[in-house]
Amino acid sequence: MIPKDIIDKIFETSHIEEVIGEFVHLKKSGSNFKGLSPFVNEKTPSFMVSPAKGIFKDFSSGKGGNVVSFLMEHEGFSYPEALKWLGKYYNIEIPERELTDEEREKLNERESLFVANAFAQSFFVDQLEAQEGKAIGLSYFSERGYRDDIVKKFQLGYSPDQKDALINAAEQAGHNITFFTKLGLIKSKENGDQFDFFRGRVMFPIHSLTGRVLGFGGRTLRKDKKTAKYFNSPESPIYHKSDVLYGIYFARKDMMNQDNCYLVEGYTDVISMHQSGIENVVSSSGTSLTNGQIRLIKRFTPNITILYDGDAAGIRASFRGIDLILQEGMNVKVVLFPDGEDPDSYSKKVSSSELATYLDTNAKDFISFKTDILLAETQNDPIKKSKLIREILNSIALVPDQISQSVYVKQASSQFDIAERTLISELNKIKRTKFKKERKEGGYNDEDTLDLITPPDQLPEKAAVGENLDSQELDLLRLMLLYGTYGVEIEVEDSNEQVKKLEVPVVQFILDELAADGIILTNEIANEMIDEFNKAADSGIIPDIKHFVNHQNQKINSLAVDLTAEKYIVSENWAKMHNIYPETEEMKLQRAVEEAVWIYKLRRVRLMKSDLEIRLKNNLPESEQSVVMKDIIKYNEIITVISNKLDIVVAK
Ligand code: ATP
Ligand code: MN
Repeated sequence: MIPKDIIDKIFETSHIEEVIGEFVHLKKSGSNFKGLSPFVNEKTPSFMVSPAKGIFKDFSSGKGGNVVSFLMEHEGFSYPEALKWLGKYYNIEIPERELTDEEREKLNERESLFVANAFAQSFFVDQLEAQEGKAIGLSYFSERGYRDDIVKKFQLGYSPDQKDALINAAEQAGHNITFFTKLGLIKSKENGDQFDFFRGRVMFPIHSLTGRVLGFGGRTLRKDKKTAKYFNSPESPIYHKSDVLYGIYFARKDMMNQDNCYLVEGYTDVISMHQSGIENVVSSSGTSLTNGQIRLIKRFTPNITILYDGDAAGIRASFRGIDLILQEGMNVKVVLFPDGEDPDSYSKKVSSSELATYLDTNAKDFISFKTDILLAETQNDPIKKSKLIREILNSIALVPDQISQSVYVKQASSQFDIAERTLISELNKIKRTKFKKERKEGGYNDEDTLDLITPPDQLPEKAAVGENLDSQELDLLRLMLLYGTYGVEIEVEDSNEQVKKLEVPVVQFILDELAADGIILTNEIANEMIDEFNKAADSGIIPDIKHFVNHQNQKINSLAVDLTAEKYIVSENWAKMHNIYPETEEMKLQRAVEEAVWIYKLRRVRLMKSDLEIRLKNNLPESEQSVVMKDIIKYNEIITVISNKLDIVVAK
């Protein structure tokens, strides 16, 4: 147990913003610090740290607490582990004693796995001093040109070319071999024989953000092609490959200082770059880049520079990386190395300052990069060229932020000498197709689609059933006129079943909602305005109030004036209905727009249902009765779907 006075001292010494700053990119905000939540994926910072109070609060996940609870939550530490981490960080000595057998057993599995990895890591390091390790492992590293301090820093090691060197050492030290098996360090043959999995390989430990060993990469020193050059630890309860980046522990600080992160392919690239003085570098060794890894980088910087080699595979991987990074709302650049070179080999050929200069001068934004690569293939073939432009627009369409999108469009426009308007129009087509596809993937499928495709002239007489669509239609238009360019969020599910938020302008949201159900407005003037919105949207423009107020069609301009004359208070109804007053204008708008759409659809379905009910009462021929009843049931189901969306109970 850690003595009480030491615990007190740790708490007194710890600066919460300093500790959390190791994991989260914090910005000063008044007397507090603000950052992106490390617990959920978000675009706007909702994570607060208060140095004065010594607490953090994450408004996205609801988590909060002091410096120790942060480490427990974030690193999965136990209470004593968190204290120990702080003790180490602030140089406070914590008296330790050996664990008793009983205590050792009580360590939970995760901790035992960390202990096993730590043991293996220091075993492999120690081997570099032993005869075999020195002759084979250490000499390999020095042949590669690694300095001693770099070998030490990255805790590189050697796994002896024997069946059971690690097994014996672990057993001798009283470790439970089961944990080593779980970590893939030791494997069993079918006959039950156990052997060291990484035997005869130089070892690269893979560290967590806090420097704990999660797994290993091992490179063979054999020249024959029979065995894979690299072996990697398998997934385990402490090693989730898709959320881990090799080198992050050593890169973290510099990523913040440089406000950029270099992304390379492998262990050797990371290490060689460090040796050349570039420390903000990580790699996704052993897997292709994942969203989880990009989000890990995003905690420290929004800027990534991809450094891959210039062969076909490297280029393909970089294209995929670019799109993933853009999708996460981050900025991406790419540096290609001369043919046949990777960061590892190149950094050895040139001096540190030459390397730095090379990176600076060769970093291309993704548009120029893609253009250069693809243009070389097109050789001025106009068809291929238009494919190239589409390819670039596809990437731009992934960018979640509208403003960044328009910056990219500007750049593409000057790069290709094509009018911005034309590009925007193409971009919007791509976005709409993508939006519809994603919405379909997001479970907003045919069952949910309301199928309200009824031309206005075939809609029943409104007066007869007491439903008035007019006010609701005008409400939609009012929102489009007043807030057309504002963003509202929609939730979509991507192909990995990850729900993510997409921001679309209010106008697009409403147009898409109407289009999804094939709805044509009944109010003729309103419908003409919708048509204009639609046409404009196709060319990438959202017409503003002036466009309609000054419209040559008298009816349109007077309706526009009516709709916008009073500053309409959005979502008044909703607030009344729920007796809740949302905090921000944006939240109101989100709700107001969704509500306006759904209430309108609700009214429309009710109208059609009432009409059928009237027909049913008025001596409908028997042959038609069952069809009509079926339709009524369908409408009732739709009404339930909509009421759920509106979160209200609606009388059928
Ligand atoms: P060589 O000395 O032949 O160049 P290398 O060790 O530099 O070998 P490369 O084949 O050049 O390895 O690969 C470059 C990087 O890619 C390495 O740093 C390594 O980390 C990574 N890598 C290659 N294959 C794998 C693999 N199977 N799993 C994980 N990483 C790999
Ligand atoms: Mn190499």
